[in-house]
Amino acid sequence: MTGTTILYVEDNEDNAYMLSRRLRRHGYEVLLAEDGAAGVAAAKEQQPDMILMDLNLPVMDGWAATKALKGCDLTAHIPVIAVSSHVLPGEREIALAAGCNEYETKPIDFKQLLAKIRQFESLLTSPARSM
Ligand code: MN
Repeated sequence: MTGTTILYVEDNEDNAYMLSRRLRRHGYEVLLAEDGAAGVAAAKEQQPDMILMDLNLPVMDGWAATKALKGCDLTAHIPVIAVSSHVLPGEREIALAAGCNEYETKPIDFKQLLAKIRQFESLLTSPARSM
């Protein structure tokens, strides 16, 4: 176990299943939410260490959900990695402008994603972790 909890907000069942399985195999605890509003609610309630955010989501899209998270005292500190199959020019910039801390394109390069997750893990500063 890494002691790190990741909330994955994803409406595509196959993606949610595949990626959460791989992350769990690497010792992460993975929470799932299938739309943006559910993702925001789960983040407030469960206080994950970081969030993987699909951008194309029902109810509330990933950009709006990220803005909501970054505008809320309970969740503003949680790193958000956008995960998107969009390859539109400028999309990375738009995601970062919405408050995402990082951006990865689908299909996921798992090694690269893991490297980014570990980068954010090294910045986590709860007292329990510094012991
Ligand atoms: Mn989607």
